[in-house]
Amino acid sequence: MIVRGGTVVLPGAMPVEADVALEDGVIAAIGPQLPGSGEEVDARGLHVLPGAIDAHVHFNEPGRSDWEGWETGTSALAAGGATACVEMPLNAHPPTIDGAAFDAKLAAARASAKVDFALWGGLVPGPLERMDELAQRGVAGFKAFMCDTGIDDFDAVDDDQLAAGMERAASLGLPVLVHAERPSELRPMDGGDWRAWVASRPPRAEVAAIERAIALADAAGCSLHVVHVSTGAGVAAVAEACRRGADVTCETCPHYLALTEDDLERLGTLAKCAPPLRSAAERDALWERLKRGQIALVASDHSPCPPAMKEGGFAAAWGGIAGAQSTLAVLLHEGAARRVPVAQLAELVTGAPARRFGLPKGRLEPGADADLALVDLRAEHAAEPLDRHRANPFAGRPLRARVVRTLLRGETIFEDGRVAPGARGRLLKPERSHP
Ligand SMILES: [Zn+2]
Repeated sequence: MIVRGGTVVLPGAMPVEADVALEDGVIAAIGPQLPGSGEEVDARGLHVLPGAIDAHVHFNEPGRSDWEGWETGTSALAAGGATACVEMPLNAHPPTIDGAAFDAKLAAARASAKVDFALWGGLVPGPLERMDELAQRGVAGFKAFMCDTGIDDFDAVDDDQLAAGMERAASLGLPVLVHAERPSELRPMDGGDWRAWVASRPPRAEVAAIERAIALADAAGCSLHVVHVSTGAGVAAVAEACRRGADVTCETCPHYLALTEDDLERLGTLAKCAPPLRSAAERDALWERLKRGQIALVASDHSPCPPAMKEGGFAAAWGGIAGAQSTLAVLLHEGAARRVPVAQLAELVTGAPARRFGLPKGRLEPGADADLALVDLRAEHAAEPLDRHRANPFAGRPLRARVVRTLLRGETIFEDGRVAPGARGRLLKPERSHP
């Protein structure tokens, strides 16, 4: 197959018009006017990106597939131009904290995933031998919570437990991911509205937890990744540690880059997440840090729930935003408005997460998996949501980035608003992580 005449987006370069030849599921060549006698895809006027990788999704299956599920969650990913994801150990039941739970998760994923996937294991209080079982089965790393998770089958770790888990992860050659909010800096909600929610989880709780996690990871010799950072000061703490030579990176999410407290007021509990949406100044600070290369990657933190769980006000509602389908489009739309080059934006959801977590994905070069996203950046478009509940802060929002077609290992898995019924993802095992 030849993808003909698209604007090919390569890391660190100006996008150039070129053809991409695909053969046996891998990229065979990239260049002008490639010869071909087989199927042709007309990509003129479209941008051709590597398939995106969403390194932070919760599909909740097995156990809570009424919240989401592998089929619907990965359909949303495919529709958003993603060809791979790394799925979180919570909020499935059982949570992915030992070998048996990994096997159950893998069976569910293999039965219905539309894109390739890797799995995060959980780092929770209890026997560390479970981390060995997870590593043997091929987890990409371990996720830990430094504060309450909001769900009763996945416990937070204290500093001692986190330190011990980090030592174990280091010995296994795998990274630890932390949800960084310091419990001692969190406050009970004073009221039930959005203001009370925001006030209960101040920026200093995030920054204090990040600083603590960096110190613990340093001592353990552990590779650290801080998920969903919501503040400029949080990113700055990570950047400062990097300058000292620490093996630490961070991600942020489309909702922190595109939404603010004003949206929280407008959208209500649909936009409740932790850490909460912040001020416009904080959002702008994240963009400045992103432009300087201090944010390693962007991921959705897709964490949906049944609509009924978003009722009952800000104290009771589930804290999670659904957004697996819109990560790439939101990033391209908002980034263009802030004059960030397309190649830099694309890298944040393709090559960067792949390199950081040792996944054999995210490259547009001969020999790499033929994973492509064909995107129209010329006109605004509101995509039809394909996730289970179709309720998220970006649903119906016109974005100047429309995913036209997604290819996984050379097969079209999304086109004309539909996911191919035969699309089937595979388990990805990490090679090793790189700072
Ligand atoms: Zn999450």
